[in-house]
Amino acid sequence: MSIAENISRFRAELPENVHLVAVSKTKSNEEIMEAYQAGQRVFGENKIQDMVAKQEALPKDIQWHMIGHVQTNKVKYMAPFVNLIHGIDSLKLLKEVNKQALKNERRIDSLLQLHIAEEESKFGLSESEAEEALAMAAEWEHVKVIGLMGMATFTEDKAQISAEFRGLKNFFDRQQAQYPDLKILSMGMSGDYLLAIAQGSNMIRVGSKIFGPRNY
Ligand SMILES: *Cc1c(COP(=O)(O)O)cnc(C)c1O
Repeated sequence: MSIAENISRFRAELPENVHLVAVSKTKSNEEIMEAYQAGQRVFGENKIQDMVAKQEALPKDIQWHMIGHVQTNKVKYMAPFVNLIHGIDSLKLLKEVNKQALKNERRIDSLLQLHIAEEESKFGLSESEAEEALAMAAEWEHVKVIGLMGMATFTEDKAQISAEFRGLKNFFDRQQAQYPDLKILSMGMSGDYLLAIAQGSNMIRVGSKIFGPRNY
């Protein structure tokens, strides 16, 4: 299947409320343009310098999502254009996004990343840290937390993956009752997006199922 066919298939099969982020990390501008030509406008990158280079070269109506781990000192490079930052995992980073958004006289939408996987290595906030971040963000005008993001454990165990996604959905629902601006729940990638959607995800981040395997 071509990239364009994969985009068309996702658009046809996804429920209407589920946003598709095409994860284009390591992929060329030509490959991104093939998805663009098929109608895709939202792309996700995990390295700020790659995203900046692609943003400069490609059509300006593309919405760029930063899905990877963000170093505080690099926020400034993407602050003029980034559409959504998925991986806010510290108060320090949240504060820096607010500062850089103010400098650029804009508001930057962001998601708090929760640690939901078993693995130690994955970044993310605990529930209590996320509650603290939500309270802080409510005071800041230029960073706006519009949802939550989480990555499940890399395992074949579907019950475990579903349970991790369900836990995040439950936390999302409780927080949304207090913070009605929370609208986005970013969960699910190529291997687990169906499980994520079944547990209430409304934004999936799909790379290899669209662009094919990555060669690092
Ligand atoms: C690479 C990446 C994805 C997409 O992974 P695939 O398995 O290729 O769909 C999704 N989310 C994050 C945070 C990633 O780094």
